[in-house]
Amino acid sequence: MINQETEALLSRVQKPGRYVGGELNSIVKDKKDIEVRFAFCFPDTYEVGMSHLGMKILYSQLNTRDYLWCERVFAPWLDMEAELRNAGLPLYALESGDSVGDFDIIGFTLQYELCYTNVLNMLELAGVPLLSRERTGLKNLVVAGGPCVCNAEPIADLIDLFFLGEGEEVDLEVCDLYRECKKSGATKEEFLTRAAQIQGVYVPAFYNIAYHDDGTVKSITPTHGAPARVKKRLMLNMDASFYPDKFVVPYIDIVHDRAVEEVFRGCIRGCRFCQAGFLYRPVREKSPKVVDRQCHDLCESTGYDEVSLSSLSTSDYTQINPLLDRMLLWSKPEKTSISLPSLRVDGFQPQVMDKIKTVRRSGLTFAPEAGTQRLRDVINKNVTEEELMKTVKTAFSGGWSTIKLYFMLGLPTETMEDVEGIAQLGQEVVDAYYANPERRKGKGVKVTVSASAFIPKPHTPFQWEPQDTMEQMKEKQMHMLHSVKSHKINPMWHDASTSLIEAVFARGDRRLGPALLEAHRRGCKMDGWEDGFSFERWLQVFHDCGIDPAFYANRRRSFDEVLPWDHMDYGISKAFLIEECKRAYAVKTTPNCRQACSNCGAAQFGGGICYEKRH
Ligand code: SF4
Repeated sequence: MINQETEALLSRVQKPGRYVGGELNSIVKDKKDIEVRFAFCFPDTYEVGMSHLGMKILYSQLNTRDYLWCERVFAPWLDMEAELRNAGLPLYALESGDSVGDFDIIGFTLQYELCYTNVLNMLELAGVPLLSRERTGLKNLVVAGGPCVCNAEPIADLIDLFFLGEGEEVDLEVCDLYRECKKSGATKEEFLTRAAQIQGVYVPAFYNIAYHDDGTVKSITPTHGAPARVKKRLMLNMDASFYPDKFVVPYIDIVHDRAVEEVFRGCIRGCRFCQAGFLYRPVREKSPKVVDRQCHDLCESTGYDEVSLSSLSTSDYTQINPLLDRMLLWSKPEKTSISLPSLRVDGFQPQVMDKIKTVRRSGLTFAPEAGTQRLRDVINKNVTEEELMKTVKTAFSGGWSTIKLYFMLGLPTETMEDVEGIAQLGQEVVDAYYANPERRKGKGVKVTVSASAFIPKPHTPFQWEPQDTMEQMKEKQMHMLHSVKSHKINPMWHDASTSLIEAVFARGDRRLGPALLEAHRRGCKMDGWEDGFSFERWLQVFHDCGIDPAFYANRRRSFDEVLPWDHMDYGISKAFLIEECKRAYAVKTTPNCRQACSNCGAAQFGGGICYEKRH
């Protein structure tokens, strides 16, 4: 419960519902029974953070420990931050209203690089020293997990300990160790030395980085007995893995305001730009029985009348039809709708469509990613134009008339012909609508073609690739715009400047740490939002700190260069990634993991489809 001083500020901010706590299913414990207090911080707004599945899972799971109380903290929007600063009040956790500075462990989930300045801002608002070396005691241990940890080097100076991979087990193991060390009066160094021995724990202070004169990394040397390479953690049995039967239900609208069920982890596809597709290998499915039960429990405990079946590519779920048959037995009479947020072009089956439309019909989104077959083959997006057209025709016959197509600009080997291909594909979808006699009469078609900027990411086959410069990107965006001829097509694109900053931090090293601190000092925050982001300010910071953004974003790296994230082991071999990169340039596709194993290395974990196939 928030205190009266904080409550007095709420009448002056845009959305007070973000800051009050006390929502249905939020967990409140008696402080006198608690030995370890954990502030789970999401470095973005309440609406974004409350929609995040990982936070829902870990919040519930950490609270299963009686000695531990995990509370939620979100980045305050600019108005609330100003109010807190003016009143001299600290950032607080929603369940107790206590200052984040009172907590033993302060945990961040890092979903995208543009949130890094928010991490600094939240620590400052909590009155917690920003740098790991300035926090000398065990109290206020700052930890972080999430996909950005796969190259955590730009924020290595801020964080005491990172979690690699999936957090369900390793978070608890670290909390148990923390409890023991707190009781015994161990020092921070003693705790970190022991924690570094747990699989999936990365303690950045225990690695020395040396650089060549040309600025590339020369060596990464572990100290304190830390492993040379830190291996990720993952859950092998998804049916037995913890899943909450309750979600906190917000008072205000959030980005994804519905029950969410994770049907599987990983992705069989291996699209060469997709970091998640490699970080979460191998694919591990839940059984329809478990998915069905968990969905029903969640709808009952939250009152939601919509449940979303989530994964990186839900139409690849092998049991999708039996699952929907099961779920419709209760969802139909209870008027609960089922949504599949991530459909593949080639996975859109009429039977599935029939089942979801019995309850609700919404707009459809597909991600062909590239405008020509050649480029789709380069990126290993194993989708053909025929499949896309077949799918949209099916959708039009089924009553859909709004289609959104996602693409990327700046992919390796891209030419202006590929850019024109985006507009052409959009046009073919429009033409297919009007050629379809079964279309909904009296209704026009709306096709959005949305293009984001390609960002080369660590642990993918394109991790060595340069990003297009801003000028190249802008030229391509304009070319796409001018190639669109129909007013039924709505072309959209992402701002190239935010993509540049994202690319710098995605493949950055520790020398970006001082620039990040300086950016924070000069007021950079909420970089993922138009209201917060200032490209000019970032460029000035880089200039003043002697950082050349092009060195990180626009430089092609050689296969033998030591990469800043080489000591992060996600189970995928570098030899496989190099081979995949070469196949991209040879315009050769690679079969998906169900068709054939390509020996990426993930079979070493002894689970998922790789293991099931072999045993
Ligand atoms: S080991 Fe084979 S099947 Fe498993 S994720 Fe890698 S390529 Fe796919």
